[in-house]
Amino acid sequence: MANRDYYKILGVGEKASQEKIKKAHRKLAKKCHPDHNPGDKAAEEKFKEISHAYEVLSDPKKREQYDQLRKFAPGGFPGFGYGTNKGFHTRGFKRSPGGAFSFEDLGGFGGIGDIFREVFDLGGTTRQAKYGPQKGEDLRFEIKVPFDLAISGGKTLIKVPREEVCPACSGTGAQPGSSTSICPDCHGQGFISFAQGGFSVNRPCPRCYGRGTIIRQPCRSCAGLGRIKKTRSFSVRVPAGISDGRKIRLRNQGLPGTGDGPPGDIILTVRLGEHRFFRRKGRDILCQVPINIAQAVLGTRIRVRTINGHVVVKIPPGTQPGTVFRLKSKGLRSNGKRGDQLVKITVNIPKQIGERQTKLMEEFARQGDLAH
Ligand SMILES: [Zn+2]
Ligand SMILES: [Zn+2]
Repeated sequence: MANRDYYKILGVGEKASQEKIKKAHRKLAKKCHPDHNPGDKAAEEKFKEISHAYEVLSDPKKREQYDQLRKFAPGGFPGFGYGTNKGFHTRGFKRSPGGAFSFEDLGGFGGIGDIFREVFDLGGTTRQAKYGPQKGEDLRFEIKVPFDLAISGGKTLIKVPREEVCPACSGTGAQPGSSTSICPDCHGQGFISFAQGGFSVNRPCPRCYGRGTIIRQPCRSCAGLGRIKKTRSFSVRVPAGISDGRKIRLRNQGLPGTGDGPPGDIILTVRLGEHRFFRRKGRDILCQVPINIAQAVLGTRIRVRTINGHVVVKIPPGTQPGTVFRLKSKGLRSNGKRGDQLVKITVNIPKQIGERQTKLMEEFARQGDLAH
């Protein structure tokens, strides 16, 4: 396969000066120029390779990025150590954050991804590494759980987009019935060994993207990716009393594994919905109940909603706005304990009152009782 080490292509050392690179390019380009080699396909290819290598190495910024990338791949190009990489990425599919290394990550270094792509000469076909069984990636989503459901517990339906193994080609990426051949570069191994510091290191075969086979005709259902996007519905069991931020795991519903590895999981983070009456604070339930001035002054009985029906709460005469009444054991049960419900009293001050009410208030004021 093509040698993609740009230094080797130009026959210069890693530390070569710009002048030296320029000279080496000029010499090689002359030799391989299509004008001097009419009809010679190999020379044409070589010329393109030289031009490309020169384009990168002659640009100090691109060269720097390329050098960084080269460090990812001690021992030369293409490929890099496989230890931290979970599998070759399927371009075009967005992976969950925290997942494996991706070309997009490289882009974050300042466009190294572009060179990386060039170096690897990535085509449009699938690249699914053949590196023993690997668990699929986990998918992470947030789900909004209505307040009442979070209290009572129960089931809720969610829809989740995910990648699945293409059923048409069973994930091979090859059109059913079409022929595939063993990759000539890795002899079907999916990886290539190279010696480094006395060790033999394997890296994914760049020609077949670690699959071991070369596809002649990509699968029409998945365009050769071996995976398709599907939106799936799941019935999720929400435990009673679940709180905001808790996680629910749906085992084996994440992305498919590679090499007979198990699928990943779906991990849902619970976001509690608002309730028009209740708030939650740990095991306790908070609510506010408005009463009017007369009720606050004279005392009254009010009906208060709890998560298990209504209770009657006695409001003593002279209750101040902001007073909190604690309803024992009317909160949520968790870890064997039950919380309380805290009822905060607010007092409605009427904005407008009728003629008679005004007279009564004036009378009330004259009694001097409003002084304290
Ligand atoms: Zn397919
Ligand atoms: Zn191969």
